[in-house]
Amino acid sequence: MQVVVIGTGYVGLTAAACLAHLGHTVFGVDDDAQKIQALSAGRVPLYEPHLGELVQEGRGNGRLRFLSSLADALTGAEVALICVGTPIGAKGEADLSAVEKVARRLAEAATGPLLVVEKSTVPAQTGQWIARTLATTSKGAGVDLEVASNPEFQREGSAVSDFLHPDRLVFGVSSAQGEAQLRALYAPILERRINCPVHAQACPGAAPPVIVTDITTAELIKHAANSFLATKISFINLIADLCERLGADASAVAEGVGTDPRIGRANLQAGLGFGGSCFPKDLQAFVALAQQAGVDFNLLEEVSRINARRIDRAVEKLRQELWVLKDKEIALLGLAFKPETDDVRNAPALALAERLKAEGAVVRGYDPQAGPRAASATRAIAVVSDAYRVAENADALVLCTEWPDFAALDWSRIHKTMRRPLVLDGRNFIDRAKLEAFGFRVLRMGA
Ligand code: NAD
Repeated sequence: MQVVVIGTGYVGLTAAACLAHLGHTVFGVDDDAQKIQALSAGRVPLYEPHLGELVQEGRGNGRLRFLSSLADALTGAEVALICVGTPIGAKGEADLSAVEKVARRLAEAATGPLLVVEKSTVPAQTGQWIARTLATTSKGAGVDLEVASNPEFQREGSAVSDFLHPDRLVFGVSSAQGEAQLRALYAPILERRINCPVHAQACPGAAPPVIVTDITTAELIKHAANSFLATKISFINLIADLCERLGADASAVAEGVGTDPRIGRANLQAGLGFGGSCFPKDLQAFVALAQQAGVDFNLLEEVSRINARRIDRAVEKLRQELWVLKDKEIALLGLAFKPETDDVRNAPALALAERLKAEGAVVRGYDPQAGPRAASATRAIAVVSDAYRVAENADALVLCTEWPDFAALDWSRIHKTMRRPLVLDGRNFIDRAKLEAFGFRVLRMGA
């Protein structure tokens, strides 16, 4: 198929590269001219495992191209995927201005039939607005523009793998033809014809289930999924607070609770809380949507409040050890909001750094991939390029992101260079006994 992907950020670029890898001809379009220039020259402007190889593969075999002009990209296209950002608006609602703009431009530029697919996370009923915009703006005769929703569930850090091996595909459609087109788009995945760059030999699992719904239901599935996942995280973090008061261990509680298949172990890890570009804004947007619909979803406001308190809790723990934080040197290990990404949007590490800086502490930070983005996002952190340098002379080291490599650092070397061998494991990730054997005092979240 010939596919246009509009918005070449974390979601759009992954979708474009994976769809080209599956055999489609894909044009990636973005408003950001620098991004298009970089991608056209073979430079991938974000870090995501395996994405670079797929982009190079697609550029090499001519199946993946990047353009600034939507009109040029649309010539001969059958499907257009909207992958632009949907940030928080002034009142907590989703800001859909980029989606609306793309819908107008698509209607103006389309010269033939086109399936317009929402991949951006949008509030329920956005599809109806897109359809209305397409109908009122389109050139009319012969230009059959249909809307579908195909929410994206990929996780940064494993986005390529998630795209090629999805748990499920959700198709929100208004016609059998729309469903057939989405099935054709994903045919190699549904028929297990994937030459996967992630799992060198055997790819896991069977074909994913396809959940076919109306468009509004598909939109709601995505917001409900993110809200539920965030709720799980805040739930275990509240349990963590209780464990600290009662002398119990939140990690063991999580294991004891999460091994129940009705509950599951995923997203049940006490720590510094969630961040990223999705959960925080999607919760707010879902609450705003529910409010407009007359449904009180205070539950999710509490989920956000519990999450914000994780940073307070980490600062309290440091204060209990260091007394006065002013002029203390604090090392942050990990700045990205999660491992295997360079994304620092709403990263807990950055929120913690801002709080510590406000207390007068001196904050240094290191991340294997996210250093440059963190340095441009905040002045609260002096970003260094080495995990050992970040710890030198530090009064405390806070592990903010569970990059697997951190477990294998030379902790004996780190111990020797710190002013005070104090580690706050904000992700309950590193073997406590191992660190204690080196002489560290180790604090965990929820223990
Ligand atoms: P992003 O900020 O990384 O990328 C958005 C891209 O859209 C940018 O490159 C931007 O320049 C471009 N853009 C904005 N307006 C445009 C326009 N009018 N025309 C062309 N390009 C335009 O965002 P993202 O993280 O990729 O998220 C995109 C959407 O997908 C959001 O709705 C998000 O909630 C959703 N989502 C994100 C993830 C994730 O892990 N990041 C996962 C699932 C869903």
